[in-house]
Amino acid sequence: MTEEPADQLDDQPNDLMERVVNLCKRRGFIFPSAEIYGGFRSTYDYGPLGTLMLRNVKDAWWRAMVQCRDDVVALDAAILSAPKIWEASGHLSNFTDPLVDCRNCHERWRADKIEGVCPNCGSADLTEARAFNLMFKTFAGPVEEDATVAYLRPETAQGMFVNFVNVLQTTRKKPPFGIAQVGKSFRNEITPQNFVFRTREFEQMEMEYFVPPDEAPKWFEYWLDERFRWYLDLGIPPEKLRLRHHDPDELSHYSAGTADVEFLFPWGWDELEGIANRTDFDLLAHAAASGEKLEYFDQASGERYVPYVIEPAAGATRTMMAFLLAAYDEDEVGGEKRTILRLDPRLAPYQVAVLPLSKNHTLVPLSREVLGLLQPICMCDLDLTQSIGKRYRRQDEVGTPYCVTIDFESLEDRAVTVRERDSTEQVRVPIDALVAEIRGRLGR
Ligand code: ATP
Repeated sequence: MTEEPADQLDDQPNDLMERVVNLCKRRGFIFPSAEIYGGFRSTYDYGPLGTLMLRNVKDAWWRAMVQCRDDVVALDAAILSAPKIWEASGHLSNFTDPLVDCRNCHERWRADKIEGVCPNCGSADLTEARAFNLMFKTFAGPVEEDATVAYLRPETAQGMFVNFVNVLQTTRKKPPFGIAQVGKSFRNEITPQNFVFRTREFEQMEMEYFVPPDEAPKWFEYWLDERFRWYLDLGIPPEKLRLRHHDPDELSHYSAGTADVEFLFPWGWDELEGIANRTDFDLLAHAAASGEKLEYFDQASGERYVPYVIEPAAGATRTMMAFLLAAYDEDEVGGEKRTILRLDPRLAPYQVAVLPLSKNHTLVPLSREVLGLLQPICMCDLDLTQSIGKRYRRQDEVGTPYCVTIDFESLEDRAVTVRERDSTEQVRVPIDALVAEIRGRLGR
């Protein structure tokens, strides 16, 4: 079939957010949680395609931060954690947001996110702000008493600090080196909002990079560059990404420098990742509270010191949403409107869709053979239903970069058509050369 993409219809639709949220629901990226019971307070479930994409976001981070480096090691610490950790880290006393109540409609808001007026009813009759702790508290064991209190971690970082010596002893790393972790975190946000931008349960991708104290400013700059480039490399357009340095009065008490990587969301610039020079605050705090020495001893020089820490802390779920917003587009192909996710192939849920031209039983066995060749190298979809044009549109809409079509000629010449998502360009490739062709295009 002939498919010529025309110029895109508009740069960014006004209701981009609504369109992306609809697409997420319609195509199985993200569902409101417990929907059959009317939903559950801004929690979300990742569907068949969202699970694949979120995994790809985390894998891309892991590849850049762990796999392709020799100075960063992995960790997977417990989510249920001891109160002592959070006492020492300062979270029990300081991890709070300012909470205000609207006296008129009784809605509750985070005071620093509204401008003195209730966003619900417009009333300026708000209570004084009071500190609200964001930690989720629970009980470990059958008895609900003070001695059994535990917390769901509100960040993954503390797992890296409390395991600092374990990692040092088992990996023989020396500063500068990092510990990386990807996993769920929980914050009892006062106003979860903007789809998965701010939720109470979310996933983080964090790395603590331990350095000699005098090298901290250099490594801070280094990680700002590295992290900024990561988003560009995966397809965030440069005009929608910026680095914003915190003002001195905005800095956390422990920080000697913080900058946020920000994305231009439909409501304005907002944070994707914070990169901070956390000094020796965390290791000193845990050393003081635990009585353990959390320091590095350099046998060669006889030097003993507490490393400084540079922390790039990103949100996986929030970043996935940014990738979706940046990739969403609408254009025209062959006079027909199409919705397209221009996702980097590394992030797309499926890299290849295998499509027999018709449901005719003679084409299905060969299609399955082709599928079997491609499945070991990437995630594939096999779609047998409806017209080929409709199936191309469906794959465009979920960002599948390549469709492989098997037609009646394929039975004779053992060749298939490879169609590229953005250009809709098609080339004929012998089945024997298909794996190499797809590997080459995907860079795998
Ligand atoms: P904010 O100011 O938006 O509340 P923060 O500065 O407290 O965020 P950090 O503690 O630096 O956030 O967490 C690192 C990253 O984790 C954030 O940049 C964000 O991507 C992600 N993150 C934090 N809180 C949430 C949340 N409630 N929902 C989704 N992602 C989150």
